[in-house]
Amino acid sequence: MALVVQKYGGTSVGSIDRIRAVAKRVVETRMKGNLVVVVVSAMSGETDRLINLALKVSPHPRERELDMLMATGEQVSMALLAIAIHELGYEAKSLTGHQARILTNREHTKAKILSIETEKILKELEDGKIVIVAGFQGSDDQGEITTLGRGGSDLSAVALAASLKADVCEIYTDVDGVFTADPNIVPEAVKIPKISYDEMLELAGLGAKVLQTRSVEFAKKYSVPIHVRSSFNNQEGTLVTGEDAEMESVLVRGVTCSKNEAKITITGVPDKPGIAARIFSEIAKANIMVDMIIQNVGEQGKTDISFTVPKVESEKAVEAIKKIAGELGIGEIKSDPKIAKISVVGLGMRSHTGVASTMFSSLAAVGINILMISTSEIAISCVIDEKFSELSVRILHEAFGLSAQEAAKS
Ligand code: ADP
Ligand code: ASP
Ligand code: MG
Repeated sequence: MALVVQKYGGTSVGSIDRIRAVAKRVVETRMKGNLVVVVVSAMSGETDRLINLALKVSPHPRERELDMLMATGEQVSMALLAIAIHELGYEAKSLTGHQARILTNREHTKAKILSIETEKILKELEDGKIVIVAGFQGSDDQGEITTLGRGGSDLSAVALAASLKADVCEIYTDVDGVFTADPNIVPEAVKIPKISYDEMLELAGLGAKVLQTRSVEFAKKYSVPIHVRSSFNNQEGTLVTGEDAEMESVLVRGVTCSKNEAKITITGVPDKPGIAARIFSEIAKANIMVDMIIQNVGEQGKTDISFTVPKVESEKAVEAIKKIAGELGIGEIKSDPKIAKISVVGLGMRSHTGVASTMFSSLAAVGINILMISTSEIAISCVIDEKFSELSVRILHEAFGLSAQEAAKS
């Protein structure tokens, strides 16, 4: 008897009809003799709606209360799914993150899972029930409700699969799997049948929201195989798994775009030792993650520094630098939210050259200016003007022959 964890995202439980369809799929899996644990997201749009309600009441709601509020979204869908399964004549029980004993740290709105006590879920499974767990939530050592960051139901599913030693973790979503680019931006994008944890980690971290980045980190750490597939059909999706020899032969696996960052530029920075250290320690003190950094060649004792931070924290970053601007003799501080980060990802980059030059020349050929560049072992990213983001994803998808590559294989 296999133990299967299935996670259904927002669109997959977005209406009563969709919840009935999910109930049918869950019951079919149970009827095949499997033990089934289901993780659900809130109905599509619900988490955003709840956040907006809070923002109408206050521009700065406290994070504890935000967690209380956001966690209700998943509770609605888990109960409705249990009711739909009962209607089909099967036993099911829904559990909140707290009831499922998902223990997290105390970091409200971005809590980390510390452990999951599985006895309770295993007991329900033994009693013949289908167990439905609210995604995206847990509770801390004080019994306070916490949430795991946006898209966190993926993490709930992977963590449950790891703790329960499930045979597979199926992530059901609104596309057929992981594609060479977001299929909603590039219609020619093709489904990737199998992808390594490392490539998926880069794709997710650089903007492919089909899986939450932390869920992939967790899956890699505990070797949980993930099957990303559609809840709208029965096709095989994408297997996210450990690396095999064949994978490195693919130069570029996918193209991503992220619009979550803003660029901050500081001009007239005194070009002497210790200044960058002061600036970035101030940013770190404000608990802001910096991604890319560039410093120009100094001229007449002054230089410019640009860096990117999450868009939602750009104001906070500017404020942090303003505090030391006078003391350091800094010129101007500007923030530009209208940027996008375009990336190409592939294990093959480790052993092949020429990816960067193809990327840069393809963008140049259509007149797209590169503002910043960063590289990792298996990814290259360029910051560009936001208005060119969709165009550049399509151009790079084409330039690396991503639709042709898969077509040639099949
Ligand atoms: P869910 O609600 O099921 O968690 P998400 O909206 O979080 O679904 O993730 C699915 C979406 O991810 C797709 O609708 C698609 O637009 C987007 N996406 C971005 N990049 C990719 C990619 N490379 N492959 C597949 N989907 C992608
Ligand atoms: N409902 C949460 C969100 O919208 C978690 C999830 O869907 O994974 O971010
Ligand atoms: Mg998601």
